[in-house]
Amino acid sequence: MTGLESAEDFHARVLAAAGEDGRLAFRADDAMAAWDIYPYELDGLRMKPLAPLADAEPPRRGETAEECWCPAGVPPEKELAWSNERWVLQALPGTLPAELMLQPRTHHDLGDLPADLAAEMGVLTVAIAAAVESLPAVARCQLARYGDGGAHLHLFFLGRPSRMLQLRGSPLLDWADQLPPLPDDVRRAHAAHVGTLVQDAVGGFGPSGL
Ligand SMILES: [Zn+2]
Repeated sequence: MTGLESAEDFHARVLAAAGEDGRLAFRADDAMAAWDIYPYELDGLRMKPLAPLADAEPPRRGETAEECWCPAGVPPEKELAWSNERWVLQALPGTLPAELMLQPRTHHDLGDLPADLAAEMGVLTVAIAAAVESLPAVARCQLARYGDGGAHLHLFFLGRPSRMLQLRGSPLLDWADQLPPLPDDVRRAHAAHVGTLVQDAVGGFGPSGL
């Protein structure tokens, strides 16, 4: 197909925009750094030098089903906010009012999720987002899929704290990295609240082990 840029060409074009020290100039005027929600003061802030292009993408954790956690299933003692025969929803330790992770029980990544699971993922995404947003400490549920660490599909549902307007938008994770930990009893109560509402909305099994 014509017009598609190779990894080498993309990297070379970005590197050509960097200075002699390999750093891109820090854009503050027409970039995220100009947003009022940008979490950092700009004095002294600079980009790390660009790394060379890697020879290949490194393998991720659990790249094949044989290497992944999923053939053994979720241990029965594991905390689950909600589950059914095909999906599990866990409440992760963190700093935000809710940090939940949704995974299929069978080995798939986002790009190879069968259509029936993809359709169910849409319904679940709506139900989980609504449940997270019903927490009194949450205004908005943010969604994320990175897929650079573990190969097994895992979606993040992140509760943006209500009325903390600096935490809006994509800098939420930068703030979350610096906030104090969410107390574990609060994490469990929030997970149970979310799981119960998801069960009310779509069926399946409510909170377990919490
Ligand atoms: Zn897996």
